[in-house]
Amino acid sequence: MDRNERICVLGAGAAGISAATYLREAGFTRVTVLEKEERVGGKCRTHREGELNWELGAILATTDYATTLELMRRAGMEPWRKPRASRPPETAFEGGGVWDMARVFPGWVARSELPAALAQIARYQLLAPRWKAAFAPGHAGVPAELAAPVSTWIARHRMETLGKLWSIPYVSFGYGFYDEVPAAYALKYFDPGVTRALALKRKFFNWKEGVQTLWERLAAPLEVRTGMELGRVRRGASVEVSGAERRSGAPFRLEFDRLVVACPWDEVLAVSDASDDELALASRIRHTDYRVRLVRTEGMRVPSGFAPGRFSRAGLGLPMIWDERNRGTGTVAFYVLGDGSTPGSTIDANVEAEVLRLGGRVVETMARADWKYFPHVGPEDYAGGWYGRFEGLQGRNRTFVTGEIASFSTVERSARYSRDLVRRFFA
Ligand SMILES: Cc1cc2nc3c(=O)[nH]c(=O)nc-3n(C[C@H](O)[C@H](O)[C@H](O)COP(=O)(O)OP(=O)(O)OC[C@H]3O[C@@H](n4cnc5c(N)ncnc54)[C@H](O)[C@@H]3O)c2cc1C
Repeated sequence: MDRNERICVLGAGAAGISAATYLREAGFTRVTVLEKEERVGGKCRTHREGELNWELGAILATTDYATTLELMRRAGMEPWRKPRASRPPETAFEGGGVWDMARVFPGWVARSELPAALAQIARYQLLAPRWKAAFAPGHAGVPAELAAPVSTWIARHRMETLGKLWSIPYVSFGYGFYDEVPAAYALKYFDPGVTRALALKRKFFNWKEGVQTLWERLAAPLEVRTGMELGRVRRGASVEVSGAERRSGAPFRLEFDRLVVACPWDEVLAVSDASDDELALASRIRHTDYRVRLVRTEGMRVPSGFAPGRFSRAGLGLPMIWDERNRGTGTVAFYVLGDGSTPGSTIDANVEAEVLRLGGRVVETMARADWKYFPHVGPEDYAGGWYGRFEGLQGRNRTFVTGEIASFSTVERSARYSRDLVRRFFA
């Protein structure tokens, strides 16, 4: 491919900045990233106040995040583990269905369940080669059995205790419920490395500077234009992208040779000359409604905890998990799944009620983030070959699609799919 081609990357999140970084590395010099918001990072969003920072999006990685770690090295960042709580874990609210984060084991997972948990983790590692395709970038060649809901896969392979362990990061981190999401996504999340990390806590890490910093540093040498509101995309002999700059309202019209969509594909198609194939596929994409509230509190007895009794539809609108990133500050991030229409005021009220229940009071809500999250398809579409058709469209109409829908909603999955996309199509 001609290295002089003009390439437009839409979206400056993990997928877009990774794609642009690898395109530049492959020798393409005319790469422009257009970002709707005034900042880069997308769902890697860090709230900063003075010396401190908090995450409103991605929080955790594991030492198996190979692409992310490689990009972190380029950005001069290292894995960081936040200090453990100095006080003994709170137990007073276990009866009320709330567990201190330090009490996953022994606690919510009892000592008596340990042999089953370890046996299932070991069996999963042994069986993993048969699901190998699910651990690779994208969904090509994933075995048909993984189209079934996670709950079906768990029952078939008698992995109930492992499923219980997985459910903390799976359900409370916004990936929906086990009975409605194809198992392929869960396996993509909990590949053998991440599953080992559940047993070996030291494998998890955070980003001391905040994860948004990673993408800001990588964006610095790239041509990234923020605050670009997309109006229209037309693809023919070239790709014409037009819209208006948010700050000034000034219109823009830019011409490229290729388009890499690293933002919600369905939203881009809505303003494009989309083909029937593209529209038919995009219309099947589902999302979850994931809300984060960063709240300054006083006196909370369980400042980092989770409520597994709410890991079901009955828990919609209620905090499922919460975390005090900077120990002893009382500033806590609460994570809530909405039903798509839950008013923001209801989420705020439920968070406040939780703080009260845990013996504290809300001083102030410092930040709110409402995410249209985890684009995915349901079991029937997955079984019906949705991803085969999706991959078949790559490159058609001068367009490539990367990011969450192409693989799975984690930092590593978005970054890795972008790296793979560049290797496959821009060699
Ligand atoms: C609360 C929360 C917690 C999470 N925790 C973790 C975690 O612990 N570990 C982990 O690995 N992952 C986690 N994730 C997931 C991870 O953050 C995302 O999957 C990943 O960052 C997605 O990157 P992306 O670039 O594919 O998409 P996005 O981050 O959504 O980036 C898309 C970008 O495109 C921009 N955009 C949208 N529309 C347009 C348009 N029309 N034109 C131009 N630009 C546009 C957006 O503003 C955005 O910047 C979490 C996510 C959330 C929300």
